[in-house]
Amino acid sequence: MGPLDELARYFQKMPSVGARSAQRLAFFILSQPQNWVDGFIQSLQAVKKDVRYCSQCHNITLTDPCEICRDPDRIRGLLCVVADPRDQQAIEKISYRGLYHILGGLLSPLDSITPEVLKIDDLVQKIRRNNYREVFFAINPTVEGEATILYIADLLKGLGVRMTRIAYGLPTNANIDYADELTISRAYEGRVEI
Ligand SMILES: [Zn+2]
Repeated sequence: MGPLDELARYFQKMPSVGARSAQRLAFFILSQPQNWVDGFIQSLQAVKKDVRYCSQCHNITLTDPCEICRDPDRIRGLLCVVADPRDQQAIEKISYRGLYHILGGLLSPLDSITPEVLKIDDLVQKIRRNNYREVFFAINPTVEGEATILYIADLLKGLGVRMTRIAYGLPTNANIDYADELTISRAYEGRVEI
C-alpha cells in the first residue's frame, strides 16, 4: 500500500536492512502510538539540524569547534588519525589525551572513495601549519586501512613529524570500534613507527 511501501523504501536504504526487514519496520511504525511516531520524527529532524561536523577535526559535534578541539588540557602536539567517529569514540575510552583527525572513511577506489573524497589534503595542511610531535594512525589493519596509511605516510614524509600506528592486539580485519578497551590500550602503548 502506497505510504507503507514508501516508508519501507526509506528503511531499505539503511545499512544492513533488506526488503523484508524494511517492510517489517514500516509495519512496526504503523503499530506505534501517535506520540511515539511524533518523537521519532523530532529525533530524526534534530539529528540533521543539531549535529554537525567540527571544522577542525571533522568529528560529529553539537558545537563547532567540538569539545575536544576546544579543551585546553589536550596535548596539542599529538594527533590521532581515524577513519570515522566510531573509531574516535573507541580511542577516547583509553588514556589517549591528544587531538583527533577524522578522515571520513578509507581509500577504496572501487567504491569511488578516492583521496579527494576524504579529509586527507586538510590533514596534510594541518600538519604543515602546526607543530605536531606525533601523528598516530588508529586505523583498522584491512586492505583499505593499509592503503590509506601508506598513501598518507608518503605525503607526510619529509615534514619532520613522527608517524606511528597500532602495533598488535588488533588482528587483521578486526574493528577498532568492536575491540575492548584493554586491547586498544595495548595496541596504543605498543604503537610502532611507520
Ligand atoms: Zn574537533
